[in-house]
Amino acid sequence: MRDIAIVGGGPAGALCGERLATHGFRVTIFDERLAWEKPCGGGLTHKAIEAYPFLLEGSQPKKIVHTAELISGGGHRARFEMSRPIVIYARKVLNGLLLDRAVNAGCAAVRSRVTTVDTNGDKVRLTAGGEDHRSDFVVLAGGARNQLLPGTTALGTKDLEVTLGYFVPTEEDILKVKFLKQFEGYLWSFPRADHLSVGICAKLGQSPTQALRRHLDDFVDEEKIPMAGAKFYSHMLPSPQAATIRGRKIAGRNWAMAGDAAACVDPITGEGLYYALRSGDLLAQALIEGHAHSYPERLQAAFSADLEFAAMIARKIFRGTFLGGAITTRMVQLLNYSPTFRDLIRDVFSGSQDYRSLKRRLWDQVGVTMLEFVRSVFRPRGSSAYVDSRESL
Ligand SMILES: Cc1cc2nc3c(=O)[nH]c(=O)nc-3n(C[C@H](O)[C@H](O)[C@H](O)COP(=O)(O)OP(=O)(O)OC[C@H]3O[C@@H](n4cnc5c(N)ncnc54)[C@H](O)[C@@H]3O)c2cc1C
Repeated sequence: MRDIAIVGGGPAGALCGERLATHGFRVTIFDERLAWEKPCGGGLTHKAIEAYPFLLEGSQPKKIVHTAELISGGGHRARFEMSRPIVIYARKVLNGLLLDRAVNAGCAAVRSRVTTVDTNGDKVRLTAGGEDHRSDFVVLAGGARNQLLPGTTALGTKDLEVTLGYFVPTEEDILKVKFLKQFEGYLWSFPRADHLSVGICAKLGQSPTQALRRHLDDFVDEEKIPMAGAKFYSHMLPSPQAATIRGRKIAGRNWAMAGDAAACVDPITGEGLYYALRSGDLLAQALIEGHAHSYPERLQAAFSADLEFAAMIARKIFRGTFLGGAITTRMVQLLNYSPTFRDLIRDVFSGSQDYRSLKRRLWDQVGVTMLEFVRSVFRPRGSSAYVDSRESL
């Protein structure tokens, strides 16, 4: 198996191609746009930087963000320094960087739309720009809207989120996330090198687009974001259910999916860049070792089991209550009043805290967290913590 065709030159396809070409495979990456400004926040957590340090080390423009602010549905705010910074790229820059690395490693990058893929014969046949192409194996890394589905099913409505947003030409240093009451999704403002990506994500079919647009425009007003020159965007984002992560076929005899196409996205945060890179990497490793069939198991061991657990708790996090208030509101309050809880959220933001051990950590430290919270509430009158907590409870 030497000739590999890759549909999609985003993070999943480009990294997979780079790894394979480095090991002597003949790789052709087909992408209808090559490097482009894909609608995205562009935020890379520390786990991505740790696994792929070149994302931090290169000279390409990017923003390194140390401070985050969470805002509850009722308007409470908690600002904190993250234990590890988040690195934020414009996607055109990030995709360009990854594709350059793939081409330098020996991949051919073809700007062309793939319209058909046939995996039934000895060789895979695909059509790109009206021309036939043959390969031993095809990697499907065409993103969330991927329509090329040999032997598998498309993601359903319940596995997708809709996103709307703006690229705004202004500068900012703080990453902001706002929750809404009884709403499965959130608003964000991610600062980049010379603009912001501001947006909203929500489960597909749960809120009309006009309502999402209103929430987004309210957020922009509340945060006083200057909108001159802003460009609107909209895109789908996988938000897989547990059963989809567990049961969907993502690989066959001579094909496999990676990244968004394989629904490798955190169903709570929408983080997909790390999982796209990692899935492309794991698929390449499986092919290099001659064990393509082991790819789904490798994904499972690396992160699918954790994403499956995240999918099971996602709804509770956005819609659940704790001590009579929304979990997201309590989270913002605890961030302000409990240093122990703040450390936990810092680790969640940096990507070093996985979901499966989160529950145990929360239980282990619940006593200390509540004690810190109560101490903060009963601080002498006049301290801002006292006033804020009385207002919020
Ligand atoms: C609004 C929004 C905000 C997000 N913010 C973040 C964030 O801050 N951090 C984070 O980690 N993740 C974020 N994500 C998720 C992240 O964007 C994706 O998970 C990531 O881009 C997936 O990479 P990929 O390579 O699988 O697919 P993509 O990046 O979508 O790349 C797929 C590529 O395939 C090409 N293609 C598709 N079909 C064809 C075809 N038939 N022929 C040829 N080429 C084709 C496309 O042109 C594209 O370049 C966000 C997503 C959205 C929608």
